[in-house]
Amino acid sequence: MAWDFETEPEFEEHLAWMRTFMVEEIYPLETLDLTWDQMSRMVQPLQAEVKARGLWAAHLEPELGGAGFGQLKLGLMHEILGQSPFGPLVFGNNAPDSGNGELLALGIKMSGREDQRDKWLLPLLNGELRSGFSMTEPHTAGSDPTLLTTTAVRDGEEWVIDGHKWYTTNGSVADFFIVMAVTNPDVHPYQGSSMIIVPKDAPGVTVVRDVGSMEDPDVVFGKYGNHAEILYEQVRVPIENLIGDEGAGFQLAQARLGPGRIHHCMRWLGQSKRAFDMMCERALSRHAHGGPLAEKQTVQNWIADSMAEMHAARLMTLQAAWKMDKVGAAAARVEIAMIKYYGAQVLYNVIDRALQLHGGLGYSTDMPLESMYRHARAARIYDGPDEVHRVTVARQVLKDYEPRDIPTEYIPAREAAARQRFAEMLEMFSAEQAG
Ligand SMILES: Cc1cc2nc3c(=O)[nH]c(=O)nc-3n(C[C@H](O)[C@H](O)[C@H](O)COP(=O)(O)OP(=O)(O)OC[C@H]3O[C@@H](n4cnc5c(N)ncnc54)[C@H](O)[C@@H]3O)c2cc1C
Repeated sequence: MAWDFETEPEFEEHLAWMRTFMVEEIYPLETLDLTWDQMSRMVQPLQAEVKARGLWAAHLEPELGGAGFGQLKLGLMHEILGQSPFGPLVFGNNAPDSGNGELLALGIKMSGREDQRDKWLLPLLNGELRSGFSMTEPHTAGSDPTLLTTTAVRDGEEWVIDGHKWYTTNGSVADFFIVMAVTNPDVHPYQGSSMIIVPKDAPGVTVVRDVGSMEDPDVVFGKYGNHAEILYEQVRVPIENLIGDEGAGFQLAQARLGPGRIHHCMRWLGQSKRAFDMMCERALSRHAHGGPLAEKQTVQNWIADSMAEMHAARLMTLQAAWKMDKVGAAAARVEIAMIKYYGAQVLYNVIDRALQLHGGLGYSTDMPLESMYRHARAARIYDGPDEVHRVTVARQVLKDYEPRDIPTEYIPAREAAARQRFAEMLEMFSAEQAG
């Protein structure tokens, strides 16, 4: 029977290298306030090291320069590189470029539109172009993308796009967007939506602003990682800019989101562990009311609960990754949905406890915890709010049950059945007792 929790020694070597590399080379970058251009130059030698080790953009298929590791190994890598917001940039899989690269690759496979490889995909993978994923709209519920109102209408050899989007991450620094739009309003939205490449400089595209958010309330326009509000007004792009088949928008989104959630959850675990390390170190170092905080039972509960929650989330996520590798994303749907809301909550809980334990220091910008806390809150909203994933799980689980007038476990009914089944023995027992 195969039931294994070990990592192959050769791959473990990669992971060990990554752990040291993260702490020694990437953590120091976090403290510098650099522009996007300065940061890009700063990370170039680090990216070269990652490439030389064969770990660059490992999520991609080997023909695109990836390693073909599979989700389980990728998950283990993301747990480490997710410890720092700069990890994904150095390892060639920062959102949304990584997911957009996957979408383009899937689309090319589906449609055979090879010209997109040289024009969009390869420059994106080489870091020569930046991208945004433009799906969510301010006036329709992003949790129900069947309500999308952005349209793309075919006019001769062009798509004409009209819509209003927001929260397009990196929108203000991107060179192009992947826009989700309704291309056929006469069929169910699952078959009537498509993804289309829109260059940022196409006439009719207006990046209205970067949205101030809990991540960055005093947002400065044009910073890497911001979330843009964008108007698409009579934007014309050539029909070759369609990704995959017409009407395949949802199909492509699903194919992209499965692996993406494993990576998210493992990155969250990397962040949780970092907050946990800070909590444990501080618990041993700070004294109050006659001893170190580590000796207070509440603090011990925080440590024990955080450890158990992280462990549970880790096993759940790795099992989901393993299942994806074995039987594919569709069959692992419930597991993938479960880790989204469970992992996001664990991240939030652990950072919240670590911040609380640090008191005023934790709340201050002298520690990274306040920023981690603000970013962690978003995890419960993006990539589909937690509630929607809970609905998916509950619906799937309930398919294995059916309604009954009398509960299966109703004791009087079970007793009657048991009495009937064992009548002979029970009669014998009664006779023995009477005799
Ligand atoms: C940091 C960040 C980055 C993002 N990046 C991008 C990006 O790059 N591109 C992009 O297109 N979008 C992006 N988004 C948008 C994100 O995908 C949406 O915010 C999300 O899908 C939720 O949509 P909404 O905001 O319209 O909330 P709504 O759909 O209005 O939902 C609001 C709330 O209603 C509740 N709810 C919804 N459905 C149900 C249900 N069935 N049962 C119970 N409760 C329910 C939930 O509590 C939910 O939070 C980003 C968001 C954030 C916060």
